[in-house]
Amino acid sequence: MAQADGATRTVIMTVDDDPGVSRAVARDLRRRYGASYRIVRAESGESALQALRELKLRGDLVAVILADYRMPQMNGIEFLEQAMDVYPAARRVLLTAYADTDAAIDAINVVDLDHYLLKPWDPPEEKLYPVLDDLLGAWRAGDHRPVPSTKVVGHRWSARSSEVREFLARNQVPYRWYSAEEPEGRRLLSAAGQDGERLPVVITADGTPLVEPEAPELAARVGLATTPAADFYDLVVIGGGPAGLGAAVYGASEGLRTVLVERSATGGQAGQSSRIENYLGFPDGVSGGQLTERARRQASKFGAEILTAREVTGLEASGAARIVRFSDGSSIAAHSVILATGVSYRQLAAPGTDDLTGCGVFYGSALTEAAACQDHDVYIVGGANSAGQAAMFLSRGAKSVTLLVRGRSLTASMSHYLIRQIEETPNIRVRCGTVVESAHGDGHLERLTLRDEHGSTELVDAQWLFVFIGAAPHTDWLDGTVLRDERGFILAGPDLTPGGRPPAGWELDRPPYHLETSVPGVFVAGDARAESAKRVASAVGEGAMAVMLVHRYLEQS
Ligand SMILES: Cc1cc2nc3c(=O)[nH]c(=O)nc-3n(C[C@H](O)[C@H](O)[C@H](O)COP(=O)(O)OP(=O)(O)OC[C@H]3O[C@@H](n4cnc5c(N)ncnc54)[C@H](O)[C@@H]3O)c2cc1C
Repeated sequence: MAQADGATRTVIMTVDDDPGVSRAVARDLRRRYGASYRIVRAESGESALQALRELKLRGDLVAVILADYRMPQMNGIEFLEQAMDVYPAARRVLLTAYADTDAAIDAINVVDLDHYLLKPWDPPEEKLYPVLDDLLGAWRAGDHRPVPSTKVVGHRWSARSSEVREFLARNQVPYRWYSAEEPEGRRLLSAAGQDGERLPVVITADGTPLVEPEAPELAARVGLATTPAADFYDLVVIGGGPAGLGAAVYGASEGLRTVLVERSATGGQAGQSSRIENYLGFPDGVSGGQLTERARRQASKFGAEILTAREVTGLEASGAARIVRFSDGSSIAAHSVILATGVSYRQLAAPGTDDLTGCGVFYGSALTEAAACQDHDVYIVGGANSAGQAAMFLSRGAKSVTLLVRGRSLTASMSHYLIRQIEETPNIRVRCGTVVESAHGDGHLERLTLRDEHGSTELVDAQWLFVFIGAAPHTDWLDGTVLRDERGFILAGPDLTPGGRPPAGWELDRPPYHLETSVPGVFVAGDARAESAKRVASAVGEGAMAVMLVHRYLEQS
C-alpha cells in the first residue's frame, strides 16, 4: 500500500519491494526535500501505479519517480513504462544493483529514463541529492500547475457534457475541462478506469470519478446542499432566480425559517445574462451571474437554506400546512410557499434542431459556450433584449454574429440602447424577416437553412446557433392545484377575482392578497406570474413583496 505524508505539495514517489530499502529511500528524500515536496512511497509496482492514478484524479503533480529495478510481478522498467502513461512529465530514475546496469542502460531508451542510480546510494549528499536536485530543477523549468479543482472529461460536441459544464459553471463550482480526444483527457479516463464509452466523467476535487452523473448526484458530490435540514419551515421558496432569491433574502432576514429549492442552479434566467444594464444601482451594468451569486450569498448569510438540483413536482394543501413534493418522492412542509419558478425559452420548431441541441444549438446559454465560439460565425435567433445581449457578448470573440429576427425590425422588441450598441458593432449583422427553416449536421451543427419573408431559402455554414425566442412558464406540475391562465402563467390577487367574485374553492372571507394564488398561503413572484413584467428588478421586488404578504397571511391564519 502506498503511504504518503503531507497533503497538497508536489510529489516525489519512490517504489521498492524491500520495505527496509523503501523506508530508507523515503527517509533520505524527506530529510532533504520534505519541506517542499510530498514523499510518497510504495512497495510494489501495482500499488505505486494505483497511488499515481489517485494522485492524477486529485489533480496533484508528480515531479520525480524513483523505482527499484528488481521487483517481483512488475519490474522497475515495466512500472515506469506504465507510470509514464499517467504522468508523462515526471522525471524517471531507476535504482539498480551493479549487476543490473545493462538493464538500466536499455531502459534509457524503453522508458526514456532520466537517470539510473546504483545501490547503495550512501552518502546521499554525494550520490542521491545532486541527481535529484538536477531532475527537480529540470522539472520545475516546465509549465506544471496543479489542478485541484473538479475536472470534467467529455466530448466537445456532446449535449450531456455541455449540460454538466453549464451546471457546474452556474453553481460557481470551479472546474477544468478536458476533451476525451486529447492525451490528458485520455490519461484521466484511464486513471479513472474508464474507456471513454460513457461520458462525461466528472472527477471531484477529492479524486472521485463520477460517470455520466445526474445533477443531484453531481451537486451532492461537489459540495452543494441537496437535502433539507428540517421537515417543516415557515416558508418554502420554489425557484432560485431573482424572484426566489429576493424572497429568500427578505424571508430569512425577517426571521422566517426559509428554504429555497432550485432544480438546477441559482440565478435563473438572469444568471445566464451576460450583462444586465437596467438594474437599479449598476450604472455600468452587471453580469447576471455576479448579481445572482451575490444574492445567493446574501440569502445564505441571513440563514436561508438553499437546496440545488432538487426539482419540485407537487404541491398540496393539508389543513394549514403546505406540502411540497420533490421528484424523488420525498417532501417538506411549511406554513407558506412562494412560487418563483420563472420561465424558460421556447424550443425552435425547425427540423434538426432537437437532435443538435447541446451540439451547436443552445437555448439561452451564451456564456459557457462563448470561448468555443472564438473566431467562428455565430447565429442568434430572436429579436428581444436577451438575443441582443447575447449578440453583443458573443461579438467580442466570434468572427461574425448574425441576428435572425422574424419581425421586420428590432424596434418593437428590443431596448433602444441595445439596438444602438448593435448598430455600432461591426461584426454583428441583423437579418430581419428571416427564420431558421432547418438545421443540419452529423453529431454537431454544420449548416442552417434560412428562409426570408418572401419564401426564398439559403443554406449557410454554421457551427453555432443560440436561440432566444420567448418563454413558457415552469408551471405544468401545478396543474389542478393553483389556477393558471391559458398560457400556463399563474393567476394571483386581483386577476383571480375578475368580476369581484373569489375563485372556485376559495373558502376565506377575504379575497386573495395581491400576489396570493388560488390556494391561500401560496404566493407567486416573478416571471411565472400572469401579466408579470419579465424584468430582474420586478422579479426581485415581487419576491420581497410576497414575503410581506406571507407575514400578513401568517398573522391572520
Ligand atoms: C439572456 C437573458 C437576458 C436578460 N436580460 C435582462 C435585462 O437586461 N434586464 C432585465 O430586467 N431582465 C432581463 N432578463 C429577464 C430576467 O432575467 C427575468 O425576468 C428574471 O430572471 C425572472 O426571474 P424569476 O426569478 O421570476 O425567474 P427565472 O429567472 O426564470 O428563475 C426561475 C428559477 O426557478 C427554477 N425552477 C423552475 N421550476 C422549478 C421547479 N419545479 N423546482 C425547482 N426549481 C424550479 C428554474 O431552474 C430557475 O432557476 C433576461 C433574461 C435572459 C434569459
